[in-house]
Amino acid sequence: MSLLVLVDAHCDTLSRQAQQGYPLRCQLEGQVDLERLRQGRVGVQFFAVFVPPEYRGMYLRLTLEQIDYFYRLLAFWQEVEPVADWNSLEKALLCGKTAGVLAVEGGHVLEGSVAALRVLYRLGVRCLTLTWNGRNELADGVGDEAGGGLSTFGRQVLREMEELGMLVDVAHLAPSGFWEVLRHARGPVIASHANSRALCDHPRNLTDEQVRELAATGGVIGVTMVPRFLAAEDPTLDHLIAHLEHLAEVGGIDYVGLGSDFDGIPEPWPEMPDAGHWPRLVERLQQRGWDQEAIDKVLGANFLRVLRAVWR
Ligand SMILES: [Zn+2]
Repeated sequence: MSLLVLVDAHCDTLSRQAQQGYPLRCQLEGQVDLERLRQGRVGVQFFAVFVPPEYRGMYLRLTLEQIDYFYRLLAFWQEVEPVADWNSLEKALLCGKTAGVLAVEGGHVLEGSVAALRVLYRLGVRCLTLTWNGRNELADGVGDEAGGGLSTFGRQVLREMEELGMLVDVAHLAPSGFWEVLRHARGPVIASHANSRALCDHPRNLTDEQVRELAATGGVIGVTMVPRFLAAEDPTLDHLIAHLEHLAEVGGIDYVGLGSDFDGIPEPWPEMPDAGHWPRLVERLQQRGWDQEAIDKVLGANFLRVLRAVWR
């Protein structure tokens, strides 16, 4: 079967549109909307709820508002189906629709409550990025100087996520937390949006050792379009592909995917300005001699494997 499915494991559309007052339109100001998902032939789009840490005291309320928008927007779009289990995802793809997966970026919104995690799961959240850049109740982010590991609460959340069948996302996590998650995790762990540190030395990127160990869990690294995670200056498609190729060489072709961070990129670059331009990447991979199987895996098959495993 050569049904090429593109999975994008991260975008910030919900929080970006929160600033616009949650518009219900097919064309949005930004990098992801119905038109662009169609043009980009996106099969599965993760939509991350993100509440900036400075909104302490309003975390859960703002999380609920973004979740509410996710369901209202996707109902308006019709061609994008919210999915929270494997059967619905498969069905959406077979009907030619895009599947929308609800995620949360930053465990600070749990406000230290495992009950909040369980309720978010009931609301359809199927992926949690444990931290953002700073420290929270679960662990320290890459931007925290102490760079500590998982707290007792963090370990509790990790266990509960595995019980529920929620994807564990280590993007933004400080290295010590990263290693602890890998030590405690029983299933695949993902880094929804991160690149190779060997090619671009930024703390948000993963070292070769981290890439190998994350791959050993059966998880996937989603290569991201954020300019400063791709190259020191002027990123191009060739930089992006160099990251894909290096990650595949180090960790294996089965453990690399895509996690654009569209709508979280203040300065998009010309070759990949938005979700409508994914076919350019596919074309370029073909030009560079990638075989169909490798393209299929990186484009989406690898993330689909993980979703299927975690959602059981
Ligand atoms: Zn992020």
